[in-house]
Amino acid sequence: MGAATLYQLAKAGADVVGIDRFAPPHDQGSSHGDTRITRLAVGEGAAYIPFVHRSHAIWRELEADSGEALFEQCGVLVMTSSEAPARHHGAEDFTGHTIELARRCGIAHEILNASQIRARFPQFGPVRDDATGYFEPEGGYVRPERCIAAQLNAARKLGATVITGTTVSSIESDDGVVRVRAGDRTLAASKVIVCAGMWSANLLGEPFGALLKVCRQTLFWFRLEEPSIFPEMSPTFILSHGPLETDICYGFPPVPGEGSMKIATEQYVGLDSIDTLDRNVSDAEVAQMVRSHVSENFAGVTPELVKAAVCTYTVTPDYGFIIDDHPMLANVTVVSACSGHGFKHSAGIGEALAQRTLTGRSDVDLSAFSVSRFNVR
Ligand SMILES: Cc1cc2nc3c(=O)[nH]c(=O)nc-3n(C[C@H](O)[C@H](O)[C@H](O)COP(=O)(O)OP(=O)(O)OC[C@H]3O[C@@H](n4cnc5c(N)ncnc54)[C@H](O)[C@@H]3O)c2cc1C
Repeated sequence: MGAATLYQLAKAGADVVGIDRFAPPHDQGSSHGDTRITRLAVGEGAAYIPFVHRSHAIWRELEADSGEALFEQCGVLVMTSSEAPARHHGAEDFTGHTIELARRCGIAHEILNASQIRARFPQFGPVRDDATGYFEPEGGYVRPERCIAAQLNAARKLGATVITGTTVSSIESDDGVVRVRAGDRTLAASKVIVCAGMWSANLLGEPFGALLKVCRQTLFWFRLEEPSIFPEMSPTFILSHGPLETDICYGFPPVPGEGSMKIATEQYVGLDSIDTLDRNVSDAEVAQMVRSHVSENFAGVTPELVKAAVCTYTVTPDYGFIIDDHPMLANVTVVSACSGHGFKHSAGIGEALAQRTLTGRSDVDLSAFSVSRFNVR
């Protein structure tokens, strides 16, 4: 979110500084792991759709400028193949909700029955006879590390200052000036936007401490046995294969040249402290992933682990984003747009934040993302 916002502010001509405790792109927060799903019919709610539309356009612009491939439009398949639909990211029956939104918002898609899914996508199986598939040709995946690097490079070229390896320890707002303590210096700004991911509550305190839960996530890459069953230009997928929130997995076609498929589930157990985050993936976790998701639901994938990674979600109580003024600090905006589905929207959110910061309003309506919806003080 920070790289996208910095880029858009610099593009709009603002005098802007980005500060990060690490050197993005890095693998310490929520934006690493090679790929992120993108889809236009955002089952999490219609308020998100304008962001992802803008993100797709911005990534194409950045691709043209940087020469880097950022967005692979391989399509996305959202599928329920279980006795009952599963809840996902706060939506009951995520597949059904996605279909409803696509119809309502005029997003190109196909609805597939079990025999159509089996014929077109033999990598998924066994598919139940009552399965429903939603295929969106304009979806696919983006490359998060490349998107971050492209936006930071473009921001630098446009005159932004990027300070890395420097932790912000405090933010104070007084008399129209925001003072940011970063390492051993203090910067004064007219406006500050905080996009601190899983560190947001530590930096901002309440009410964010009470609202934000940080959850450890694991990502797995398994070697493909039969690349012809799982081709590179097959869709990204979100598969509900049981009635529980934990019966959902999502994944990606092989990234060109890698011969493995990335697959993951979602965990919503909050960490007691982000300092205790275990960044290693255990053999038991690999075995559990194979048993619960891989061996039953896919063809052409071996249980041989190629690599694994740990990443974090920062989740609000309703799984939605927070994009709003800080309730106590004037001229400070907080963006905690994570909850496991933020990357696809990040470029569009950066653009909306730049507009809001510089002109007082944004093309995209941000009212759905207010802090006040949680009734906290
Ligand atoms: C496993 C996983 C899978 C996901 N899959 C998808 C997907 O398929 N599709 C999708 O759209 N989204 C997905 N998401 C969500 C998406 O990746 C996140 O919403 C998004 O990357 C969050 O970005 P962020 O900028 O909020 O956080 P981060 O990328 O973590 O950035 C926060 C930054 O703030 C810096 N920082 C924090 N505190 C300080 C401080 N005090 N001083 C200086 N710097 C500081 C950190 O160093 C970091 O660089 C997934 C997330 C995970 C973890």
